[in-house]
Amino acid sequence: MKQLLIHNALLFDCTGRAPQSGGAMLVEDGQIKAVGTNQSLGADTLKNRDDVTAIDAGGRSLLPGLIDGHVHLSQVFVTESGAHRVARLEPDSWFALRMLRNAWDALCAGITTVRVVGDHNHIDLELKRAIHGGQIPGPRIVTAGRPIISTGGHGHNLVSCLEADGPYEIRKAARAQIKAGADLVKLMITGGIASPGEQVDTPQMTFDEMEAATTVAHHYDKPVAAHAGGIRSIQMAIKAGVDCFEHGYIIDEETADMLVRENRILVPTLGVTHHPEYIEDSKRPEWWRLKAQRAKQRHQQSFLTCLRAGVKIGIGSDIPDIHEYGIKEMELLQSVGMDGMKVLEAATRVNAEICRVADRVGTLETGKDADCILVDGDPRTVTNVRKLRLVVKSGKIIVSKLASVEAPAALANV
Ligand SMILES: [Zn+2]
Repeated sequence: MKQLLIHNALLFDCTGRAPQSGGAMLVEDGQIKAVGTNQSLGADTLKNRDDVTAIDAGGRSLLPGLIDGHVHLSQVFVTESGAHRVARLEPDSWFALRMLRNAWDALCAGITTVRVVGDHNHIDLELKRAIHGGQIPGPRIVTAGRPIISTGGHGHNLVSCLEADGPYEIRKAARAQIKAGADLVKLMITGGIASPGEQVDTPQMTFDEMEAATTVAHHYDKPVAAHAGGIRSIQMAIKAGVDCFEHGYIIDEETADMLVRENRILVPTLGVTHHPEYIEDSKRPEWWRLKAQRAKQRHQQSFLTCLRAGVKIGIGSDIPDIHEYGIKEMELLQSVGMDGMKVLEAATRVNAEICRVADRVGTLETGKDADCILVDGDPRTVTNVRKLRLVVKSGKIIVSKLASVEAPAALANV
């Protein structure tokens, strides 16, 4: 099998090290065989060998494939009457096709891994099997299966959520997701924006319900992620062992310090309150728009409180289309004050930790799977990740916008 050499790059390995000019990476059998400089890899000799495909990066930036830490592949916001109403009428086969399309578009935008935090009828699990089994192309998928909510809890008006009450039902619901092949368990512990009749911090799970889920998940060595809006529920969930908090609309200093002390993670999904255009474009109901608008300022404050306190922060979009809003979320976090390098590391190394795939992806290091992207300009100004020239997943070229490198047809990319 031919080796792939990418040389003459500004190398962002995202391990915490500073970027290095004259960087090079050698890939064999889908894995990174060596990473360093043109000199240390002997790129001048390697590039002329017949068994090496050499790509001269021309000083462009090479970084790990991006990871979107909070997606729902089946979400679509394009209908006049409200997507959830239409979605209920759709057959599962249509869901599957849409999820495949969303996954493929994300990969083509350089998002080589997605963390699905709740999706429809276990189609996410089948899609993962098909992609990971090499039947169809797509990003790596880490997924929760169906989200677990309390009766009438957040998401009850949307398709996909599984209602369960009390520790017995919650344990059964969590075990059912793990049995089906879920990589994590997703709980909705408070209200949120997308459901009526609740506030973003309305507590919706009791301590014993949360603890039931974390006990089951941790027995199988799987993390628990919680859709979480308010201080009281987040503090309770930290004590109950929840690993990762999604959204965090309302977090104070005391709670941020607890997150740091207990080494928990926040995926702020700031975009859900900061992009009125997606609400307008998708003709969401008025209450949805008002809730997002009202939560916006406090959501941003809570994120900045966590950032200052040193909470570990991942990045997730939560809005379709993933290939657009995944990048927008990175731009948004930088625009409100997160350092550009930290944004890149959150979207790669930290998100790989959240997904529990840090042994395989998230940084450019020897022995890891060769998921990487090449972009024009310096990606510490994160909008430059849009200037995508090359996407490589497991050593295979998925997208090439370099004149010298031909990209294969889509279905050849498995
Ligand atoms: Zn979500």
